[in-house]
Amino acid sequence: MIRDQLILITGATAGIGAATARRLARDGARLALWARRADRLAQLADELGAFTAVVDVRDRAMIAAALEELIAQAGAPEVLINNAGLGAGFARFHEGDPRDWDVNIDTNLKGAAYVARAVIPHMVAAGRGHVVNIGSTAAHMVAPRGHIYAATKHAVRALSEGMSIDLAGTPVKVSLIDPGYVKTEFGVVRFLGNVERAMETYRGFQPLSPEDVADAIAYVVGLPAHVNIADLVIVPTAQRNMYVIDRTTE
Ligand code: NAP
Repeated sequence: MIRDQLILITGATAGIGAATARRLARDGARLALWARRADRLAQLADELGAFTAVVDVRDRAMIAAALEELIAQAGAPEVLINNAGLGAGFARFHEGDPRDWDVNIDTNLKGAAYVARAVIPHMVAAGRGHVVNIGSTAAHMVAPRGHIYAATKHAVRALSEGMSIDLAGTPVKVSLIDPGYVKTEFGVVRFLGNVERAMETYRGFQPLSPEDVADAIAYVVGLPAHVNIADLVIVPTAQRNMYVIDRTTE
């Protein structure tokens, strides 16, 4: 059930997070949207009537302050979509910059854990709740030059399972959604603003749109309380696995 639920989305200013916010708003959810870019958050607040806060998920103090403010204004979130993430760096492992590794690990793994750690106790106390973690096909297979990113997404998959088993005995459920190639700002961030290089990723096939993934998220969130999708892999039809991508289809 989505209508009237308070749904917190991290990384809501672009791509999958923004599309999911728009989709869930259409379905009648109340939204709390977190990310770092204040100008985009202000636009989303206007457009969707959402509660917004500038939060860097690497910063536990920012998370605590924003959650406290949200609870005071609107109550505790009933659903958390743990989506903020990126792929910093695209070097071969032995040539990589460990500072990029820190950004990946701090955002994708530690950030997701910090936000969930802050929110879940309120779900347990309220006797309801749903955490939807955004993984990746990189949670299942490793692509060339994707070492640390894939390591963080494999870890998010383990974290998701870990959260879920520790929540046994409560009604709070945990889902993982693993998208393949989605046309978002992900590649632009990865290739440091080089849009042409980012678009090369999608040469010859139709990638998922952020709205395709938002539909899957809405399906998972909308299921009855006794049904949970533990792990959902969603890929473009042309993407058969991490390596086999049919680039003759567009
Ligand atoms: P995107 O368009 O670049 O959006 C990423 C979002 O994360 C932005 O809203 C960004 O907002 C936010 N973000 C990044 N670092 C953050 C931080 N430290 N604190 C708070 N927010 C932060 O990329 P996307 O493709 O939608 O990515 C969303 C999720 O999907 C990620 O977890 C990614 O790993 C996963 N994913 C993407 C793909 C794909 O092909 N695109 C495939 C599988 C999985 P600000 O910059 O405003 O903070």
